[in-house]
Amino acid sequence: MVDSAPPIPPAPTLPDWTRLQRSLAVEAERGFSDLEGKEFRFSQFLKQSLETSAVPFLKPDEQERWQQTAARFEKYSELPLNKRQHLVAETRRLLYHAQQDYRRVIEPESAPKPKQPKTTSLETKNREITLDQELTYLPGVGPKSADKLAKLGLYSVRDILFYYPRDHIDYARQVKIADLEVGETVTLVATVRRCNCFSSPKNSKLTIFDLTIRDATGQIKLNRFFAGNRFRSRGWQEGQKRLYPPGAIVAASGLVKSSKYGITLDNPDIEVLDHSGGEIDSLTVGRVVPIYPLTEGVQPALVRRAVIAALPAAKKLKEPLPEALLNSHNLVGIGDAIANIHFPENSTALDRARRRLIFDEFFYLQLGLLLRRQQQRQTQQSNPLSARGELVERFYDVLPFQFTDAQQRVVKEILTDIESPEPMNRLVQGDVGAGKTVVAVVALLAAIQSGYQTALMAPTEVLAEQHYRKLVEWFNQLHLPVELLTGSTKAAKRREIASQLETGELPLLVGTHALIEDKVQFQSLGLVVIDEQHRFGVQQRARLQQKGQHPHVLTMTATPIPRTLALTLHGDLDVSQIDELPPGRQAIQTTMLTPKDRTHAYDLIRREVAMGRQVYVVLPLVEESEKLDLKSAISEHERLQNTVFPNFKVGLLHGRMKSAEKDAEISRFRDGEMQVIVSTTVIEVGVDIPNATVMLIEHAERFGLSQLHQLRGRVGRGAHQSFCLLMNSSKNETAKQRLKVMEQSQDGFWISEMDMRFRGPGEVMGTRQSGLPDLALASLVDDQEALELARDAAEKAIAQDPTLERWPLMRTELEQRYQRLMGGAIFT
Ligand code: ADP
Ligand code: MG
Repeated sequence: MVDSAPPIPPAPTLPDWTRLQRSLAVEAERGFSDLEGKEFRFSQFLKQSLETSAVPFLKPDEQERWQQTAARFEKYSELPLNKRQHLVAETRRLLYHAQQDYRRVIEPESAPKPKQPKTTSLETKNREITLDQELTYLPGVGPKSADKLAKLGLYSVRDILFYYPRDHIDYARQVKIADLEVGETVTLVATVRRCNCFSSPKNSKLTIFDLTIRDATGQIKLNRFFAGNRFRSRGWQEGQKRLYPPGAIVAASGLVKSSKYGITLDNPDIEVLDHSGGEIDSLTVGRVVPIYPLTEGVQPALVRRAVIAALPAAKKLKEPLPEALLNSHNLVGIGDAIANIHFPENSTALDRARRRLIFDEFFYLQLGLLLRRQQQRQTQQSNPLSARGELVERFYDVLPFQFTDAQQRVVKEILTDIESPEPMNRLVQGDVGAGKTVVAVVALLAAIQSGYQTALMAPTEVLAEQHYRKLVEWFNQLHLPVELLTGSTKAAKRREIASQLETGELPLLVGTHALIEDKVQFQSLGLVVIDEQHRFGVQQRARLQQKGQHPHVLTMTATPIPRTLALTLHGDLDVSQIDELPPGRQAIQTTMLTPKDRTHAYDLIRREVAMGRQVYVVLPLVEESEKLDLKSAISEHERLQNTVFPNFKVGLLHGRMKSAEKDAEISRFRDGEMQVIVSTTVIEVGVDIPNATVMLIEHAERFGLSQLHQLRGRVGRGAHQSFCLLMNSSKNETAKQRLKVMEQSQDGFWISEMDMRFRGPGEVMGTRQSGLPDLALASLVDDQEALELARDAAEKAIAQDPTLERWPLMRTELEQRYQRLMGGAIFT
């Protein structure tokens, strides 16, 4: 063969439906990463297969679409993730419909007739069902049904087996209408008598849905309300009525309340279990029934029927986890778990299935994170630093206090890390004032005494300056120079710093993002400390690290997050916690107030100012607009200055001020030129003014608990008793309960835990960039124990065999799941 010979175009053949669908499914499972196959990448394979397929049975416009789709795979790898996702989904649909057409046109005789079994039982026909088959292969699932299931992203038998229900209804425990009691949350199973759906005669924007249901003991009326134009159309309203025809059996769940029309459910969840009275008996009576996440036009009974038909294939699932692991954690097998997550024999079986599948979700995630950490360590050679040495000894001598137990523990963890040639990647969590900075000083000194330079980066100028001020104190006593580099550092100073860095004279540089600029070059950077690390992007952190040869990295945060989140998000970091405050700190007296207590609040403020203390008044961000925000800050400032505290000087700090202006205002406050400062949340991070003893937070109910805790940390930094006043302007009961948490605790870890319980993990992390993986069953709020077990098991497995080659099925499963959850490959 001559290399330059043009490839011979293969003769067109019929598309290999199964192979194409399978490769699309695998690509989707593996996070749309354009998988590398034996010969081709996924996109090349798709492009070629589609281009060279003979599809004469398609109508001309469909043929054109086919070719266009093929062409779109040319640039697949350059598309953003969502576009790739979209293209794959579209191609799966295209193939699916083309195959239906093919069957219809080319082999009408052999097209499977949709089989509607008269009685559906869990035992299906003696047909061999395998995991990769399409859904039409299942008894009871015809082409129309398969079309609908495709809307849920379900194409193969495997897809549907792993489509977990979002809930179950336990028929053994269903409540009868006659027994409803106001205040309980219940699920009723009842028959539809009447259904009506119409535009409100009083409010044309409102659509009312009215459903009357009955069971053997009585009848009630349920209401739902829909606001918006979409629901006003006759078509939509008629569609609703068709969904709930008389005689249909529905499950309705919600809170029982009494209304002027009698007992009802508040904004109920209503689901049709079945349209015909017949099937429901065989499928549901006396058992726990799954409720699936659905989409418009897909009937719950359809998903259930398909799942039931697919269940025999669950037995064919090979167990990826080693038996010893299953035994030691008391986990059921995967086939058993899949069968019981759908149609559990009883609630114990359901619990066991959930436990196994939740374990899987956490286990593979932790396995992936730990492997990533290990790979980083192995590929990156760092410089081992010596923990023992003159500087560290001298620091302990000049330190006027003893480290707390927690600090000692964390120092030990850090020093063990940096003595190793693998780069440290450790996060220290601890409340403000817990003594993180002094702990970091030990690490800095260890690096310096080993002959390396160090850097400390903070997210704002105020913070960088504060760190600088503290560090200068320590470093002066040790006769070591420190410099500060921020956006406002003068050019001459910058040049001086640059030259001292390059000669290696300067052992520590403190600063803001200014540190990552190209001009900043170290001679030998051995350790970087990053404060409030979550406020920096991955890129920014990486750029600082790239200024040395894999320097050790210590990150710090005063915004502790619950351990489940830390393990999930930072599972590839080591996490240390300073969960103990230095002795002698006074608790900040925290009180929730309502607007009618305002005069008390102002009295307290006057009393404290009379004793020479200072006060923060914090306003929430006005979400609708920055302008309003500014206006509220300005008008509150005027009000306080002119009418409430005319005898004090009141300062103002808001987000629209330039950072130099902010810094100047904070300095004036620090210097005692004003007694009260009104501020939006810009005051949040790290400002340290020991003479401030009162913080009044307006609209405290609008803040997250962790943020309130952060804010509160601005007071109580000196020797005086401090106060935090939380103004609750809402009547909402949950708001009150949340704020009570602040009264009860000063423990940042516990508060973050409660914050997550109230608001959910996504909110706590700031939903969008949270990077939280999409877990189907596991909950970061409720399943901490399972997560710890899974982490433990993952650590043990890696300790036994870091390549995982001993367990090939587990390795494959990890590869698939990890790519779906985290994006990117784990094994390369
Ligand atoms: P963080 O960085 O966690 O907010 P710092 O390290 O700045 O805390 O410490 C806060 C203050 O407490 C500093 O003035 C520090 O010198 C002091 N401090 C730290 N650890 C101790 C301790 N073990 N005993 C007494 N004071 C301490
Ligand atoms: Mg600090």
